Amino acid sequence: MSEIELLKTRILKDGKALPGNILKVDSFLNHQLDVMLLHEMGKEIAARFKGDGVTKILTIEASGIAVASLCGLVMEVPVVFAKKNQTANLGGDVYSASVESFTHNRTYNICVSKKYLSSADRILLVDDFLANGRALLGLSQIVEEAGAELVGAAIAIEKGFQGGGDMIRRKGIRVESLAIIDKMDDEGNITFRA
Ligand code: 5GP
Repeated sequence: MSEIELLKTRILKDGKALPGNILKVDSFLNHQLDVMLLHEMGKEIAARFKGDGVTKILTIEASGIAVASLCGLVMEVPVVFAKKNQTANLGGDVYSASVESFTHNRTYNICVSKKYLSSADRILLVDDFLANGRALLGLSQIVEEAGAELVGAAIAIEKGFQGGGDMIRRKGIRVESLAIIDKMDDEGNITFRA
């Protein structure tokens, strides 16, 4: 089975579609981690961005870190995660952006220490989900602020019906999603894009 089929099969087997367009995947991606599956996903993402000269992966805490780490392992590049609301801890010398949270229904700041991104970097953004695209937008603003090159974004699960992916692609950013969900209903039925 291909990496993508493995992920889709797992979503159908263990994912729970909750009211409010939330897909719960706690048993393998968001609470318990199936690192073997994450490793396979990392290989697929690495293959898609092979030859693009990625020097660093940027993700957002907490749930992006797992998939980003396995990508970093396969691609042999460091992984940086943007922190939420910790500007003071990082000493103020940070790149920051504000992000509206889809799952928590509020706005928060994300920041990355200037020590870990530079204008020489070629950045791949990685996250677990793409919904309205706010997290990716905030991360791409940080890359821009650092003067680094944005190579693209790799996503485990894109909820295509929420439009964030289209919005980000319209900005000219390459987005590679391993599974794109076109439809999800309250009875738990999930339809993938072919
Ligand atoms: P966006 O910023 O694209 O609207 O939402 C992406 C972020 O919200 C991701 O970092 C992810 O953590 C969270 N998220 C969005 N939709 C879902 C979902 O259906 N399930 C889970 N578990 N997280 C989601």
